[in-house]
Amino acid sequence: QKPVPSDIAISRSCVPKPIDRLAREVGLLSDEVEFYGKTKAKVQLSIIKRLQSQPDGKYVVVTGITPTPLGEGKSTTTVGLVQALGAHLKLNVFACVRQPSQGPTFGIKGGAAGGGYSQVIPMEEFNLHLTGDIHAITAANNLVAAAVDARMFHEATQSDKALYNRLVPLSGGQRTFSPVQISRLKKLGIEKTDPSTLIDEEITRFARLDIDPSSVTWQRVLDTNDRFLRKITIGQSPTEKGYTREAQFDITVASEIMAVLALTSGLEDMRQRLAKMVVATSRSGDPVTTEDLGVSGALAVLMKDAIKPNLMQTLEGTPVFVHAGPFANIAHGNSSILADKIALKLVGPEGFVVTEAGFGADIGMEKFFNIKCRYSGLSPHVVVLVATVRALKMHGGGPIVTAGMPLPKEYVEENLELLKNGCSNMRKQIENAKHFGVPVVVAVNGFKTDTQVELDLVCSMAKAAGAFDAVCCSHWAEGGAGAVALGQAVQRASEAPSDFKFLYDLDLPISDKIRIIAQKIYGADDIELLPEAQHKVELYTKQGFGNLPICMAKTHLSLSHEAEKKGVPTGFVLPIRDIRASVGAGFLFPLVGTMPTIPGLPTRPCFYDIDLDTETEQVNGLF
Ligand code: ADP
Repeated sequence: QKPVPSDIAISRSCVPKPIDRLAREVGLLSDEVEFYGKTKAKVQLSIIKRLQSQPDGKYVVVTGITPTPLGEGKSTTTVGLVQALGAHLKLNVFACVRQPSQGPTFGIKGGAAGGGYSQVIPMEEFNLHLTGDIHAITAANNLVAAAVDARMFHEATQSDKALYNRLVPLSGGQRTFSPVQISRLKKLGIEKTDPSTLIDEEITRFARLDIDPSSVTWQRVLDTNDRFLRKITIGQSPTEKGYTREAQFDITVASEIMAVLALTSGLEDMRQRLAKMVVATSRSGDPVTTEDLGVSGALAVLMKDAIKPNLMQTLEGTPVFVHAGPFANIAHGNSSILADKIALKLVGPEGFVVTEAGFGADIGMEKFFNIKCRYSGLSPHVVVLVATVRALKMHGGGPIVTAGMPLPKEYVEENLELLKNGCSNMRKQIENAKHFGVPVVVAVNGFKTDTQVELDLVCSMAKAAGAFDAVCCSHWAEGGAGAVALGQAVQRASEAPSDFKFLYDLDLPISDKIRIIAQKIYGADDIELLPEAQHKVELYTKQGFGNLPICMAKTHLSLSHEAEKKGVPTGFVLPIRDIRASVGAGFLFPLVGTMPTIPGLPTRPCFYDIDLDTETEQVNGLF
């Protein structure tokens, strides 16, 4: 076998077809496409209306066993599978994937365009700024953060009347309310529309949001792994008159606005979600929203282009939508509903849309079903569960290694004992997928050190665990040709009866929903709500947010809350430290144990190897 060149060398060796040609091939009309250079384009949402009567294609989600630092290859398999279905089995296809965060790209993981001969190209465009959607989210998020602190400052330093006069400016000698202010008056039960008729008590209620500074849940974000921003003090300049406050930065891809982008169904829906986001609680216990701050219209303006999915292509010229990129452990980990919906129409009833859910099936897939499918109304036909021999060996008791370390012999030589033990993790993740009533095809992503006996063992154990089928594939080394058997298995599975159902009912109490996920998916004995989480359960239930779905923020490296516990941990109680509400996105997110909401950089980050060839403008060192 010939050695496989580096990801970037492969990506660069392939000349992408002009994006306008790809757009025509997939059935987009010229006025539905906005070009961003020669290899990327945005697709206008007007297409949804044009294709509304077209039947949907088959919907496939790619997930995996519990990840290890050895890598499983979900993105690689997503791309390999669409290349197989599209370029080899000649079906209409679309891959719908997340836009990667620059945190991991410059930090530990590297890019996320897939790998080997199964990649989205050009990979440097894909992994870096794309069309600026993440930058737009950062801008929108931080506008809200600035609005919260400025508002608290102005309220603290001004009288009711002064505040009111500034909030309702004079226009032609008269004060007038803006539409946002009229909606706020309605929320307060004040029906007046003439500012001059408001009495003092109404002016006070109107002018003051009266935010309790200790209740602010809205954080600033950036898309860099900057660990020193995990806890900060803001307001230290004398111009802020001593109004300092402890705050923090999160990574942009964990922000609520990223989740809004991923879950929205259109411009009007996005506008409403951007208005409903809760940033804090008032001293009287009411939720304070972005609409109350008067900032939601500006947010919609900042996000109006980000809402359009980005069209790119694979190495074999099949189409890809890259749209939204929420992290999977501290957010919901799935690309956008809009991209999936448009792709399902474009491929037509015989075609396939393959999307990827982040991390293991206990995380990204559970959220794919319970959150994404609940909001989209779409029913998936097939789950593809990616497993690798080496990762299963680590679950079976193999030595724990970190990325970049030389591999111990257990991972490069045949070891059926470790492999057999580790298949318990795959069995549990197959069971997790089957809770949702969708057929599961296991894709064993082959590495060159795997033996045939090992690969066969994984396939037979997957079938014994109830998988519809299990297939070995070599798309990393061979492109789509290496995943044709997987494509055929997915085709067969898509014809099998599927009985899609959610894991829990939204009307259940918050703690019951968390318990169901913990027990059924993670295998926990029970959950323990720590005092802050208990307080939030009561607060959110009282505020009317109790019926939202749950987005667990848990380590991806174990089915339990302890990253070092591999395989299938048992006998544990899942500690819920706190719960946050993303009311605009539409979920509650319990924090399991301590989860950093912004990663840090390692001693030798990926950016060490990244540089620009100033002669050719080529980017070197990305992977
Ligand atoms: P995931 O989506 O599960 O995080 P990726 O698809 O991004 O994983 O793959 C992680 C890394 O592993 C990439 O650098 C990719 O090139 C590499 N990789 C994936 N599959 C293989 C394989 N079969 N052989 C060698 N390297 C692989």
